[in-house]
Amino acid sequence: MNQVQERIVELSQRLSQRGFFAATGGNLALRVDALHIAVTPSATDYFTMRADDVCVLRLKDLVQISGERAPSVESGLHAKILRNRPDVNCSIHTHQPLASACTLLGKPLEVGYPQLWKSLGQRIPLVGYAPSGTGWLASKLERAIRSDQNAYLMRNHGVLCCGPDIDTTLDRLEDLETLCRDHLLKQIKAHTRGRPESRAAVARLIDALTLASSAAVSPQNLSETQS
Ligand SMILES: [Zn+2]
Repeated sequence: MNQVQERIVELSQRLSQRGFFAATGGNLALRVDALHIAVTPSATDYFTMRADDVCVLRLKDLVQISGERAPSVESGLHAKILRNRPDVNCSIHTHQPLASACTLLGKPLEVGYPQLWKSLGQRIPLVGYAPSGTGWLASKLERAIRSDQNAYLMRNHGVLCCGPDIDTTLDRLEDLETLCRDHLLKQIKAHTRGRPESRAAVARLIDALTLASSAAVSPQNLSETQS
């Protein structure tokens, strides 16, 4: 069991370095076995977290089995995914910047690139707003869960991706961030068309977004493949 806890420490630090876990925001869960999950602890600095801080919970009722700290307030969110999706072993909730920005737009996100459908589905649902850590938010997410849907936007908050293993789930988070960067760039360009006075400010914004992250699939690649 300790190996799973070590993996959670490594993974949390990796996501913090990537800027997807801002401060203590963002959390994740891994399935330990048929009855248990391991989750990140609540309000913990991921760079000083130790394996012993990681919490192991009983999946059916979230009773804490081990771990020296209190479990993440979003344990209920991950449990909804892991109970409803037996194929999922990893669930990650992040505040990654570009996808979180897209949650402010208040709409589901159409995935216009067939090469991303396997990873993200054809349309990423927007889970309605509810405060962090509440059963209300977990219930709203549960209503959106589908067996072929591995990415979820949570309104005015962040995102959740899931997968059969850690690497697949990390790839989905990156694909989602790339898609959201592409979406934001298109929105900005469409919004400023015919407004020459905003060209300089928009150019800086576009540069910042284009340089914002390195990802496996760049927006340029997406556009080329689509055309
Ligand atoms: Zn959050």
